[in-house]
Formats: sequence, C-alpha cells, structure tokens
Amino acid sequence: MKIYNTLTKQIEEFIPNEEGKVSMYTCGPTVYHFAHIGNLRTYIFEDVLERTLNYLGYEVTRVMNITDVGHLSSDSDTGEDKMLKGAKREKKTVLEIADFYTEAFKKDCVKLNINWPNIVSKATDNIDYYIKIISKLLSNGKAYIAGGNVYFDTSTLEDYYKLTNHKEDELVVGVRDGVEHDNNKRNQADFVLWFTKSKFDDQELKWDSPWGYGYPGWHIECSGISMRYLGEYLDIHCGGVDNIFPHHTNEIAQSESFLGHKWCNYWVHGEHLNDQSGKMSKSNGEFLTISLLESKGYNPIWYRFMCLGSHYRKVLVFSYDALENAKQAYIKLKNKISNLKDNGEVDLEKLEVYSIEFKEALESDLNTSGAITTLHNVLKSDLNDASKIYLINEFDKVLGLNLLENDNNKLDSGLEQYINDKIIERNLAKQNRDYLLADAIRDELKEKGIIIKDTREGTTFEII
Ligand code: AMP
Ligand code: ZN
Repeated sequence: MKIYNTLTKQIEEFIPNEEGKVSMYTCGPTVYHFAHIGNLRTYIFEDVLERTLNYLGYEVTRVMNITDVGHLSSDSDTGEDKMLKGAKREKKTVLEIADFYTEAFKKDCVKLNINWPNIVSKATDNIDYYIKIISKLLSNGKAYIAGGNVYFDTSTLEDYYKLTNHKEDELVVGVRDGVEHDNNKRNQADFVLWFTKSKFDDQELKWDSPWGYGYPGWHIECSGISMRYLGEYLDIHCGGVDNIFPHHTNEIAQSESFLGHKWCNYWVHGEHLNDQSGKMSKSNGEFLTISLLESKGYNPIWYRFMCLGSHYRKVLVFSYDALENAKQAYIKLKNKISNLKDNGEVDLEKLEVYSIEFKEALESDLNTSGAITTLHNVLKSDLNDASKIYLINEFDKVLGLNLLENDNNKLDSGLEQYINDKIIERNLAKQNRDYLLADAIRDELKEKGIIIKDTREGTTFEII
C-alpha cells in the first residue's frame, strides 16, 4: 500500500516493522463535549485506513486514548482547560463529564460504523507511565524543572520541527502576536510534561509525583499510552492535520528522547471538515453533531458516504446541499443493490478484475472515492448477481456502508419524504419534551401501517 507520510512529505510504500502486523495509534477525543462531525470525519478516515489494512491481510492492533485530563501544554496556551470548561458549563465533576461524553462518542461511532479500536485507554489510567517517562527525560537532560512545572527542553533536539513546516522564527512571531508568555520556559517551543503550578489551579484531578502534587501535560498522554500498549516501534500514528503541530511534534520529541531511537515510521493526517464560515466549532454557529443531523432526518451513514466520496487529504466543506446529494446518491446505490437477486454461482475468476481495481484504489493513498467508483462499475458490469453481491459484501468490509442491509430506501420518494418529515417533527417534539405530540405523531404513522423505531442508527421505519 502507498500512503502519504507527513514525516517525509511524500507518498511512500507502507512497510511495517514486523511482517504482516501493523501497530496503529490514533489520537482520541477530548471528552468535554459531543464530537462535531469534523472530529468524526477524522475518525471515519482512520477507521477506513484500519479496515483497508485488515482487508489487505495485515493484522492491525489499534490503540486510542481518551483525553479526560489536562488538555493543556503550557501556561501560555491560548485555550482554556477544556475538561474544566465542560465541567463548569454543566455543573458536574470532570469525571462525570468524561464518562458522559465518552459514552456519547461511542454511540456516534456505532452510528457511523466506526470500529472501536482494540485498546482504548483513558489518560487518567496511565499516570504511572507518564511519571516513568518524565523521570527518564529529567535524568537524561531532556527536561528541566521551572516554577514548579517540568518542561521538555526543545533545544536539546536538532530536528524538533521535522514533522512540520514550522520555522522557529515564525513560531516566536506567532506567539508574540497572540498568546501570553510562560516565563518559566527556556525556549519558546518548550512544553509542559507535568504541572504542579498553573493558572488553571482549580484542577479537580491531581496526583502525587516526584515533582509534587499535580497533573500531566496534554502531549505526554499519547506518547505514554502508545508506548505502553504498542511498544517502542510504532508503524502508524494518525490524527487530524491540526495535531501535526504542536501535539505530534511534541509527541515525537519526548518519545524519541525517552527511547533513544526513532519511534514512529508513518504519520498520517486527515484534512479538516470545514463549515461554510470556515473552521468548524463547538461554540460558534450551528454545533454540527450526528444527533443534530439525525434530528433533521439524516441517516449518519449518509454522512459517512459523503466523507468517503472525498479524499482524506482534501478539505471538505460541509453543507446540507452536499449531504442531500450524498443521501440521494446513497439511496440510488442501495436501490440498485436491493434489486440484485441472490441466485446463480459466484464467478470468482471473472470478478477478480474488480477486486483488483478496488484494492488498487485503496492502495493508492486510500482513494475511497475511486473504490466507490469500482462499486458502481461492478453494478454496471455483466457479472451475474451472485458475483456482484459477493463483491459488494467484500467491499463493504472496508467501506462500512451497510450496503447489503435491507432498509426502506426503495420507497417512492413522496412517501419517503412524508415519513421523514414526520420523524423530524417527532424528534423536535421529543427535544422540546412534548411527549404527547411525539406519541401522537407515532400513532398517526402507525394507523397508516408505518412503524417507527428509535434505534442506535437513528429513527428508522418499517411498513407493515
Ligand atoms: P479533539 O477532541 O479536539 O482532541 O479532536 C479529535 C480529533 O478530531 C483530532 O484528531 C483532531 O485532529 C480532529 N479534528 C478537529 N477538528 C476537526 C475538523 N474540523 N475536521 C476534521 N478533524 C478535526
Ligand atoms: Zn494525541
């Protein structure tokens, strides 16, 4: 497989450290709020990458963190501590917030057919390991203590910026422009490994450490969790492009300084989903979540289909028109598939050409839209239906689009529109706690022989 490596800034042949096996680390959510559909675009891309590697015959072990403490890298951080902010907003404890939004994130993943990684570990469950790493960094001169905090000393590295195109001068200007300084730092790019003193002193979660009662910086958790569960040599590390700097840059700095050798070979980053105003946000404008799309009558799988239609390294702009187009295209595709009859014999020889075409698309820097084109080519081909169904089943192992699942997409569009409108009306009634109205809408549909069900995939219906 060929994949773009942010580290070398080119498309490269993927060769894992151990033949046939892949270790993969993906940065997980900060569980202070619902994930927006931009975050979920990144998780969809990572899911498809993992499924592709499995499909190509690799045995993949994937690890992900849950950031439930300290989304802070130094006191000069522009942001607030996100977990604290979430807890204050909802008048709950940080742990309650973390549990609630971890569950919400899991539900979103189920709705989008994003496979749950083999190992998912909370930042707060690995404090002992961060302490081990930081202790070594202090003893080998890569870290220093100042003002009660432990900092990583970036001047000890010759190639601190190797993952990014940042220049140190630009960074200093950037910092001067916007952010207050952290006077404890020896170098502007230094970052905190362990806090005991911070402007965010109302932290709820703190632990004993050799440097005092405190809490870890943000970057150390991904290095720690990755090395703890995947060892000293990592094949693939993923995230969204915003993670390249400073998060992944700092992960490399501290992990390689701890290990004394190169850590991860392939850094793979997904581009952002933007809304029409630009950057997607959880606080400004419409907060685009999967539940919001569902409340408007959209099946989450249509959003997955929309994401797969574009390349993971291209910015994707969200609009309801684009989602509507994806929905129509998906329904058309499903209609064609549900017209196939499962009879005849699978012609393995004849179908191979499509199998190869599908693999080649994915092997070429994860070209998912090319893979979907192959799916259309299969439907248009003169293969018999059994062979087509066989291939669609294979392809869906990677695409995760429920292509062979029976649903109601064959309805005539007028009736479908009517039912969808009713579902939206009912969801809004439920949101407004108007359960009488919600029940009345359900009964009205029932009288017409339409049964609606609230499932993990959203509200679905069945005509009896
Ligand atoms: P966070 O919960 O903020 O740590 O982000 C979770 C993941 O979403 C990270 O991998 C980010 O790089 C990614 N991400 C953040 N914003 C976007 C966006 N607008 N589009 C795609 N991915 C994003
Ligand atoms: Zn991370």
